[in-house]
Amino acid sequence: EAERKIIELAFYDPLTGLPNRRLLLDRLNHAQVNSVREHQFGALLLLDLDDFKTLNDTRGHDVGDQLLIAVARRLGETLRECDSAARLGGDEFVVLLEALGSDQNSAATKAEGIAEKIRAAISKPISLNSNMHYTTPSIGVTLFRGHTDTTDALLRQADLALYQAKDAGRNAIRFYSPTMQALVDGRAKIETGLRKALANDEFILHYQSQVDRSGNIVAAEALLRWQPPGQAIIPPDTFIPVAEDSGLIVPIGFWVLQSVCNMLASMAREPKAKQLRLSINISARQFHHSDFINEVKFALEKSGASADWLIFELTESLLLKNFDNAIQTMKTLKDIGIRFSIDDFGIGYSSLSYLKRLPLDQIKIDRSFVRDIVEDPDDRAIVQAIISLAHSLGLRVIAEGVETQAQKEFLAANNCDAYQGFLFSRPVPKDELLKLIR
Ligand code: C2E
Ligand code: CA
Ligand code: CA
Repeated sequence: EAERKIIELAFYDPLTGLPNRRLLLDRLNHAQVNSVREHQFGALLLLDLDDFKTLNDTRGHDVGDQLLIAVARRLGETLRECDSAARLGGDEFVVLLEALGSDQNSAATKAEGIAEKIRAAISKPISLNSNMHYTTPSIGVTLFRGHTDTTDALLRQADLALYQAKDAGRNAIRFYSPTMQALVDGRAKIETGLRKALANDEFILHYQSQVDRSGNIVAAEALLRWQPPGQAIIPPDTFIPVAEDSGLIVPIGFWVLQSVCNMLASMAREPKAKQLRLSINISARQFHHSDFINEVKFALEKSGASADWLIFELTESLLLKNFDNAIQTMKTLKDIGIRFSIDDFGIGYSSLSYLKRLPLDQIKIDRSFVRDIVEDPDDRAIVQAIISLAHSLGLRVIAEGVETQAQKEFLAANNCDAYQGFLFSRPVPKDELLKLIR
């Protein structure tokens, strides 16, 4: 019992029960070691309460202590399993985030997301001695990977960022690194814009044709663009990642699905267009959403389009995220007539065992292999292997990013079934696609 007590006193804050500064520094040190081994970013968040001194002075230390206990509890409720919180002293708390992934930008976005959750949780009214109290935190954030900075240096960075958050008017989150700050600001702006875009109907679809070996257009891929009024068109690479992180990809993806189904229904009335399939890019979050199958059925029924002309392009990482669920969803959709193509094939896990287990129709060879196919013997070998593998599993093969006649010829000589790329057509608005077909 005495031993337990000693440990508690040495490493834990007696008021809140959170780890103290000493234990935190130790954990931070471990986290830095882990971040090297696992090639993952972590983040250190330093936060304090914006009006703690006033509360302490006007309502007494007892009430101040209760507030600190309540804040500690809310921190605990907000954090993920792999994160930890500590109290440094006074109203200063530290949160250590681990396993934020290997990409710096996406790690910054995740850290910002968690910081925002913490900010919101602490800002909710807290009942103290049956009085409601409102408090807000300011939060400074710094990212780390490895030991390039000492634990002290990281704390100083977070402290500087915290100071900037206070300077920005409190109740704010700031990053130590100006580039990270610019990144999260930019993403926040895009997210706000996307919400408006959905309400104001600012999305458009372009279509890029897919041709068979004789050059006939057999299908077209729907590619999303964002056209804010009076501004240039924004390409999907700029906003799809934000839409995915924020969950907005679910309603946006549904809009794409409905638009493509409407397009299919109108094409069915044209003799030359009615044999054309349309393919749609599906994001992981959309595909694994519990309503996905119902949304697909709804879009088909409402438009009167036939599922037989619809192709879904899925990525390998989407499928591997929840493999069993993915197979189930695919089978259900396959039964109503939808076809499946693996997008960007070759750059992910390219696990051969799953190809056999999935109800696939087509593999799409990633652009990066097609690009150097004429000069690079490795890429030639990979493309040849993909084509013969796919054929032996009974799958069609399409190559994307075909820009030159020489690329097309190499692919054709190796029995590639279909082609897509600037050599045939850029993505174009739907009227232009219809002209191309006619
Ligand atoms: P992706 O599915 O790999 O789409 C093909 C991209 O390659 C398109 O870029 C297309 O314009 C471009 N491309 C086509 N032919 C060529 C070529 O010959 N050379 C080169 N260098 N590029 C070519 P885009 O339209 O900017 O789309 C980028 C990505 O955005 C897509 O990559 C897809 O992952 C995503 N995306 C687009 N629309 C949607 C959508 O409706 N939903 C979802 N979830 N993602 C979408
Ligand atoms: Ca695609
Ligand atoms: Ca692709």
